[in-house]
Amino acid sequence: MRAACFKLSKGVITISNHWNWYIEFADSHAGCFFAIKRYIYSGRTPYQQVEIVDTESYGRVLILDGKVQSAAFDEYIYHEALIHPAMTLHPGPRRVLLIGGGEGAGLRELLRHPQVEEITMVDIDKQVVELCREHLEEWHRGAFDDARVRLLFMDARRYLEETEEQFDIIISDLTDPSAAGPSYLLFTRQFYETAKKRLTPGGILTVQGGGLSLDYMQIHGALRNTLGRVFKIRRSYHTHIPSFDSEWSFIIASDLHDPLALDREKVDQRLKALADQLKFYDGETHEGLFRLPKNIRRLLSENLAVIDDENPVAVY
Ligand code: SAM
Repeated sequence: MRAACFKLSKGVITISNHWNWYIEFADSHAGCFFAIKRYIYSGRTPYQQVEIVDTESYGRVLILDGKVQSAAFDEYIYHEALIHPAMTLHPGPRRVLLIGGGEGAGLRELLRHPQVEEITMVDIDKQVVELCREHLEEWHRGAFDDARVRLLFMDARRYLEETEEQFDIIISDLTDPSAAGPSYLLFTRQFYETAKKRLTPGGILTVQGGGLSLDYMQIHGALRNTLGRVFKIRRSYHTHIPSFDSEWSFIIASDLHDPLALDREKVDQRLKALADQLKFYDGETHEGLFRLPKNIRRLLSENLAVIDDENPVAVY
């Protein structure tokens, strides 16, 4: 057995084989097990606990504060879904801000778009980015060194509060919020109001929105309501990420552009020059991403929570 999900019963698990296991707990009663082939790095930065391990099932995996961030096996699904819907929806994105995004794979996907002139990436944790640069070459493929990329190491909230710059697209690729973690106050209404001021007219914000399944959607509903307070249009979308053992979500927000107005023909036409480079996203995928099942739509419609600085949201 190389990867498995177990429900813990009365806190007792018996596994009788020779593997070392990394366990990611979804909550105090359920978790996901990954058989570890090799430890690459383990240590603490000023902001978070970092693990890089080679797993049997998903290849190399980056883990921050006990949560899988991405895996060699399927990171392209996450990063293509994160980047390309907004980049396809905007008629001419030239200046992009990437918030977080430590692995460099978001940069890699942005750089595929020839009209992009400048990408500013703001990650709080220089050590994480350096570790990714060293150990996750397959993810970033040299993107950190592209002349169009400007790397800043600071809290992205502080950056947005202080900068006068304007961006056509802002992508938020942050770790999930937790009370002790560095992204806690970057999921609030006040944060998105600040981000919106830094968008050009018709600009688009995309946010990684956490899990979106019956048993795992602590962030998504409230985040969607919060973005709905700040932008005229906000659309949830989602896809399955095998190494997260979950349906994962994103939200696109804008005052002008609606991703539901893009049909598959338009997406394929706009992406023509990139079609051979992408493994996940195309017109048909786009239409599927934005469809939500009935039970999830009902849960979202019943959720009235809004996240603000006085009442931040946190995952387990
Ligand atoms: N794929 C991811 C997931 O599943 O949640 C997120 C990817 S990326 C590794 C998250 C990055 O956000 C990390 O490199 C972390 O250092 C960065 N980050 C967290 N809090 C931040 C903050 N306040 N400002 C800027 N970057 C931050």
